[in-house]
Amino acid sequence: MYSTRARLTTAYAGLLFATMLAFSAALYVGRRVSARDELAARARAEARLVLNTIVSAQDDGQVLTTVVSGNPLSGPVIQSTKQMAEVLDRVPGYFLVLDPQDRLLYSSSTLQLYSHADQDTVYSVGRSVPIGGLPAEVPLARDTTILTRLLVVADSDTATGPNVSRVVAGLPTSTADLAPQLLIGTMLLLAPLVLLVSLGAAYYLAGRAFKPVDLLINEVEAITDGRSLHRRLPTDSADDELGRLAETLNRMIARLQASFGALRRFTADASHELKTPLTVLRADIERAMHPGTPQADRLVALEEAMQEITRMADLVDSLLTLARADEGRFDLHRAPVHLEPIVRDVSETATILGEDAGLTVTLPLVEDAVVLGDAARLRQLFLNLLTNAIKYTPRGGRVEVTLSHRNNNSVAFAVRDTGLGISAADLPYVFERFWRADRVRSRASERGGFGLGLAIAQWIVQAHGGTLTVQSRLGRGSVFTVLLPMLVETEPAPAEPADAVHDA
Ligand code: ADP
Repeated sequence: MYSTRARLTTAYAGLLFATMLAFSAALYVGRRVSARDELAARARAEARLVLNTIVSAQDDGQVLTTVVSGNPLSGPVIQSTKQMAEVLDRVPGYFLVLDPQDRLLYSSSTLQLYSHADQDTVYSVGRSVPIGGLPAEVPLARDTTILTRLLVVADSDTATGPNVSRVVAGLPTSTADLAPQLLIGTMLLLAPLVLLVSLGAAYYLAGRAFKPVDLLINEVEAITDGRSLHRRLPTDSADDELGRLAETLNRMIARLQASFGALRRFTADASHELKTPLTVLRADIERAMHPGTPQADRLVALEEAMQEITRMADLVDSLLTLARADEGRFDLHRAPVHLEPIVRDVSETATILGEDAGLTVTLPLVEDAVVLGDAARLRQLFLNLLTNAIKYTPRGGRVEVTLSHRNNNSVAFAVRDTGLGISAADLPYVFERFWRADRVRSRASERGGFGLGLAIAQWIVQAHGGTLTVQSRLGRGSVFTVLLPMLVETEPAPAEPADAVHDA
């Protein structure tokens, strides 16, 4: 598995090489075409020069061709004169002069240096090249000369008279081929160099681009060892992708830190809460087992031990509930549930508990509603809030329970007490596990709570898709309100007398 840096470098170099190859090919073709055009233009100029030389010689009165007797079938036979040779020998270059029957009148001295076979080839191509049209290429035998090809064009001029029909001029292609070949040579020489340099540059640039990623990886590794969750990643360049990644990771680390902290606190609190009853239990049992303890005291010690065991069982039960809730393993047995019977039942229990504690518990408003939920859990939730209200309200106080429709789709269960209340500073923590107000904590044994009741209550509410809120003022009392989504709006139960709703 190659690193991203190596893969990027290879991809970049490959792309560059392909681009270079395509560019060179285009350049070569373009250069070749333009060199050919240039060569053809020069060949045409040569042909024109020869034509002009012939015309001006004739104008000077020189006789360049003569008509010899002819056979009636093939027409007159035209021959060049010595004068033509004298005039045209002075013109350099490769050219032929042909008569109207396409017979050779004159072949330039340069062309005559070629072998007969080559001269024949130039002649046969030259006579068929269209006048003023596209040039043709004539391949020559290699051994005669270093020039292997001639580019030939044909031209004519009426001013030359009827005996000269066309002039064929050629130029060696080697000059035109040279420039594109030089180009290819240069490219081939430069290509490895360019490739090497660009590979190096790409590797360096990719390295630079990935350096912050490397740094980020190192930082994250250092943080996620579990002990450094308080540290955060630097987010100076917050507007680019890496900055955003760092911010996202920071948020994730913050969440991890919070949940690790909560887990540590939870374990410490749970151990602490279990340690106290265990110590008491041990002392009670030791007292009961001591041979000198009178029988009556032994019974008292064992009864105390039983109470501690019940408390511990409650605690373990609560812990189990929360642990299962955290895991999402705790299946609620959902079914349409009428809340009114549950609320009435729970407030009856509360009334009895309230009487013992010297409080009045009232149920001034009950509007039945059906919710999709777990009846046992809902009962536990309501009872939890009610026992809290009773626990934290001194003698003579009042606790008021209501069940009312909030709007068409939710129902509110509210418990209002005139008790101790919770200070504004403490309010954000009431639903945290093991949290108890300090003054309550100091009297924990008397009140008997572990600080898990509200955490469980909140889990039950959330599992039902509702919300649990609290309003409270220290010394004035509190209102805990559960809002649950209603399944259907229900008619008030016809069997109940209307005033039974205002229960005392
Ligand atoms: P506990 O078992 O201690 O009652 P909870 O989770 O039910 O645990 O409550 C957590 C803390 O919230 C309590 O210790 C108490 O300080 C505070 N609290 C809960 N209900 C009330 C209330 N009705 N009035 C005043 N304080 C309350």
